[in-house]
Formats: sequence, C-alpha cells, structure tokens
Amino acid sequence: MELVEERPFRFRIEPHGDMRVPGVVFASRELLEDAEQSLRQVVNVATLPGIVGASYAMPDVHWGYGFPIGGVAATAVDEGGVVSPGGVGFDISCGVRLLAADCAGREIERALPAVMDGLGQVIPRGAGPGGVWKPSGRSELERILRGGSRYAVEQGHGEERDLTRCEDGGTVADADVAQVSGRAQERGLGQVGSLGSANHFLEVQQVAEVYDETVAAAFGVALGQVCVMVHCGSRGLGHQICTDHVRAMDWAMARYGITVPDRQLACTPVDSPEGRDYLGAMAAAANYGRANRQLLSDATRRIFRREVGARLSLVYDVSHNLAKIETHVVDGTRRRLCVHRKGATRAFPPGHPELPNDIREFGQPVLIPGTMGTASYLLTGVTGGDAFFSTCHGAGRVMSRHAAARTITGKDLRTRLERDGIAVRPKSLRSLAEETPEAYKDVDAVVAASEGAGLCRTVARLVPLGVVKG
Ligand code: 5GP
Ligand code: MN
Ligand code: MN
Repeated sequence: MELVEERPFRFRIEPHGDMRVPGVVFASRELLEDAEQSLRQVVNVATLPGIVGASYAMPDVHWGYGFPIGGVAATAVDEGGVVSPGGVGFDISCGVRLLAADCAGREIERALPAVMDGLGQVIPRGAGPGGVWKPSGRSELERILRGGSRYAVEQGHGEERDLTRCEDGGTVADADVAQVSGRAQERGLGQVGSLGSANHFLEVQQVAEVYDETVAAAFGVALGQVCVMVHCGSRGLGHQICTDHVRAMDWAMARYGITVPDRQLACTPVDSPEGRDYLGAMAAAANYGRANRQLLSDATRRIFRREVGARLSLVYDVSHNLAKIETHVVDGTRRRLCVHRKGATRAFPPGHPELPNDIREFGQPVLIPGTMGTASYLLTGVTGGDAFFSTCHGAGRVMSRHAAARTITGKDLRTRLERDGIAVRPKSLRSLAEETPEAYKDVDAVVAASEGAGLCRTVARLVPLGVVKG
C-alpha cells in the first residue's frame, strides 16, 4: 500500500479504484509494520456510499470484521450515506470507565490483596452467563435497554453524579427494543452486570504521572491516586444484534443498488428501514453496555468501602464501538453525519456543548487502556481535533490470541506479573496467556502518535496494581 507522509504521524492513501475519499492514517512508520491487511480495509471503507472526508485509521489500527479496529468513517445522512454494523463491531458500545478513589496507592498497599480477592469474588466474568443483576423478566430487560446507566442508578446502583460523567448522560436516545431479536434478549437476560472474557477487564491502577495538573484536577485525578478502570461492552446481546442486522443488510443491500468490496461491509442507507432498525437496536445495546459498566462500578464500590473505607467517583465513561448521528462542517457546509467509530474514541474539544458543565472548558476525558502489564492513559480532546473528533482506543493487538498463548503459559504470566507487583485474579489461565502484554503494540508509542497527530492531549498515565480478567 502506498502511503504518502503528509506530516509527522499523518499518512494519506490517494483515492484509487472505487474509493470515494482518500484514506488517512495517523501513525508512525514503526506502528504500521504488518498493517497491510488493515490498510486494505481502510481502502475498502473508502468506497462506501455517502462517505465524506476520509476513511480514517487511528494509531492502534488492526484487522477487524469488515472495517479495521481503530477505524473512523462518517457518511452524509441526507445524501444517501450508509450505516454498517461492521463499522461498529460485534461488541456494540464496548467502552471504558474510569473511577477515582479518595485514597493514594501507598495507603491501601497492605489491604490490596483483600481488595483484589473481594473483586475476584464479586465480578462475574468469563464467556458464559452470569451477572450481578438478574432482571425480573423481559420487561425489566426492556427498561435496561431503554434506560442504560440511568435505569441502573434509578434502581439504586449508583449516584446521580455518575450520570453527568457518562457520555450521553448514561442513556442513548432512540433505543428500539422491537429490533432486538428474541435470541439477543435471551442472551442478554443472563449477563447483566458482567465483564465478559479476554480483553475485558477490571483493573485497580495508580496514577504514575500527571502531564497537566489543571486538567487532571478538573477530571478528579492526582499523582499517586488509586483508580479503577473497567473495560466491557454489551456481551452476547450486542453480538447477536450485530449478527442479526448484518444478515438483514446483506440481504437488502442489492435493493438499494449498493455493492461493497467485502460482504462484511454490509450496509444500507441510514435513512432506510434497515438502517433505522439497526440504529434502534444498536442504541438498545449501547444502553445495555452502559448499565453493565454502571453495575460493575457499584459492585466495585462496595468492595472498596468494605475493605479500605474508600469512595470512588466517576471520572468518565465513554464507548469506543458506536455509530452516532452528529453534525460537522465538511467542505464548508454543516452536514448531518453518521460517524462510525470502531475501536476509536470520540474526543470532543474544549467548550463542546455536549460535555458536562464542570469540565467543559477542558475537553472530553478519553480513556485508553494499554495492557495489564504496562500502562493506561487518561487523555483529553483538543481544539481542532481531526477525524470528526476521534482518537485511539487502546494499544491495539499485534498478535493473534492463538499466537500469544504460544509465547507463554498463563501460570508463568501470572507469576511474572505478580513479581512485578501486579495482583492477578484470572478466571481462566488460558485466557490470561492470550492477553499477554506482548500481544499488543506499545501503548506509549500509540498515545504519542495520537497526540503528535493532533487528535488528543495526554493528561495522566496510570499503572496497574491489580487486574481482574475473564
Ligand atoms: P478492544 O476494545 O479492542 O478489545 O480492547 C481495547 C484495548 O484494551 C486493547 O487494545 C488493549 O490495549 C487494552 N487491554 C486489553 N486487556 C487489557 C488489560 O488487562 N489491562 C489494560 N490496562 N488494558 C488492556
Ligand atoms: Mn469489547
Ligand atoms: Mn473494547
């Protein structure tokens, strides 16, 4: 793939073949080693009807279903632009939440094993069913699908302030429960308030470095402070919704005269029955994902209160797999766009009207997990941000799960992490090995490229003290 370096950390793929827009890749040459397959996906996405601006790749880009993970694509809703479930991914509204404790790492050093044991007991995880909350039936599940975090808080699983620090106030509007199939609901019923497996985690961290004290203080974090990062999504419910709607669109596409270079890019116009159905179901899954993170926070708070008498305040909750209808100026005109962010995080600039009042002037908090053995980051959106105000979402995988598990056993990895002072509470040792830090890119390099490309700014760096894994 021919990449033209436009400026540091920004490469361009000139439109060729059926591409309607260029590809724009934010990265360094080193981060793009072995990226050929995902760059081909960037090119494929550039052919979608109604796409505007460019088909973007973030520095953590890697291969995904149809669209690359670390991809951003916006389509013009009023000009026949399409929505594609592959542009959101199977784990709809997978995202990250960061909670800050009112204590420092050194204050809980002795109690940490007990905290980790407590979390290990109360956090449901693994691939199967099980969750902290058993809805009373389909009608309660529907209330979760419509209400998201807000419903969880209304039921006593959190505090009102949590909602002001959630993207969309904790609830996505326009959830259409009728578009969530019986099978999806069935899978969702048994997993409300659960982590899932593999890459999902709940981690106790400590702030190791602060790059901007003013912004950090506004977000509620300080050097040495204990934080908890939760990464999970919409479990089997979201997966089933993606499967159902990809199938429906694959079937319907021809009727709209749409052809795509890869069937995994199945799509229909945003403004079509199939497009609206998908967006309604996607919103329901997004609410499920948010309620999920809210309930896991509630369980975590109980353990912190019991073991160390500490309180946890929400810093922010943001998803990195979502399509959103947003208004942006493109080529000099304001247009209504369907912005797909898949493995990419929205990063609103300072002053954006959708940000909470108390932090609006500092930009949107952006939460970037790295690996359980290295670091994670707290960033903020910047004025003039690119790619429709988006940035990276993690370190990004470089090794398949299978390849990763061949490099080390779960037992050895656990020993190594614990020797480095990181407590590990895995559900499965095999799954742990698949997540070895070497399976991911260097998160410091990914964040430096994101900042260097003008997508975001660093606020703080966090290191792990203990991890709960599926
Ligand atoms: P994804 O949403 O693509 O599944 O994962 C997002 C990111 O989470 C990955 O790119 C990786 O950098 C990060 N990650 C996966 N497992 C862990 C973990 O146990 N701890 C931390 N801090 N980050 C992780
Ligand atoms: Mn996920
Ligand atoms: Mn995720």
